[in-house]
Amino acid sequence: MSNKRDFYEILGVDKNASAQEIKKAYRKVAMKYHPDRNPDDKEAEERFKEAAEAYEVLSDEQKKARYDRFGHAGVGGPGGGGGFHNAEDIFSQFGDIFGDFFGGGGGRRSGGSRGRTVRRGSNLRVRVKLSLEEIVNGAHKKIKVKKLVPADGVKFTTCTNCGGTGQVRRVQSTFLGQMQTVAPCGNCGGTGQMVGNRPPGVDEQGLIRKEEIVEIDIPGGVEEGMQLSVRGKGNAGPMGGPAGDLIILIEEIPHEHFVRQEKNIIYNLQISFADAALGTSVEVPTLDKTVKIKIPAGTQPGKIFRLRDKGLPDINGYGKGDLLVAVNIFVPKKVNERERQLLEQLRESDGFTPNENDPKDKGFFDKMRDMFGG
Ligand SMILES: [Zn+2]
Repeated sequence: MSNKRDFYEILGVDKNASAQEIKKAYRKVAMKYHPDRNPDDKEAEERFKEAAEAYEVLSDEQKKARYDRFGHAGVGGPGGGGGFHNAEDIFSQFGDIFGDFFGGGGGRRSGGSRGRTVRRGSNLRVRVKLSLEEIVNGAHKKIKVKKLVPADGVKFTTCTNCGGTGQVRRVQSTFLGQMQTVAPCGNCGGTGQMVGNRPPGVDEQGLIRKEEIVEIDIPGGVEEGMQLSVRGKGNAGPMGGPAGDLIILIEEIPHEHFVRQEKNIIYNLQISFADAALGTSVEVPTLDKTVKIKIPAGTQPGKIFRLRDKGLPDINGYGKGDLLVAVNIFVPKKVNERERQLLEQLRESDGFTPNENDPKDKGFFDKMRDMFGG
């Protein structure tokens, strides 16, 4: 690290240079030593990396301040800051500075052998239907998908247009003089390879559509409309490129007992007027088992009992929702003669008809006014 050159010196600017001047200076140096202009020149490659490292520090106000105070020691430990291993790193970080100047060469090359483009397969989308019982615990699913996979018996040949490099070079006049620009080969899409023989059903990229079983784990707490993406389970990439992703669209199967409200689930409990008035205990279903809850005497319609943590888990792990038991009073549409007589007696009884002037019924009338106005 001690033999590192001064960053200002590398870019050829003085310490008072403005951000704009630093950027301009870097652009100039980077152009000069750009690997596409200096093929197979180790010295130029080193200069190119060196300039990127200098620019990384001097273009960042904080790093620049540390460098100004402490020198190289201020901007990275032993071995030094920066840490650009190859030209691709530099393009991916500062590619915008080069703009389209270098044609397709810019930041778009993605590893592999020099210049060749590795193309990713496309994403695949599938719908997966889940019950609330599956959503509460998370689910392991085996799903059948039709996807592009590398076909058997395909032979690849070297692209005749680019000779397998994946690139075509052009000489172009620019304000810096004659520049060699590099663009991906249009014939092979930059992969450098072509499909030689094609068995029936195989596309021009050597892929064939096949049904496959994909196993996926769906975390608990997912919701209708949510999308999960499973890396590398989509369509295969052309010419041996990496596969795309499998995008899973979640669909919720409506539940026979419950209505979902985010993390909570709601259960509508029907009880008789007698049970509400006298109190009882009832069994209510939850997502894993039935539980008994106590209905106290005098329970009003609309009352909600909350069963903590009996709802759905939060997808991000922030605890669990509740099961809300909402009480409805069942009113029979038909009564038999005996029931009619009993109800007639109740109707005549004090306390079975709400009385606005009775203080103990005041709450009831207030509630009705809140709900319906008046
Ligand atoms: Zn080609």
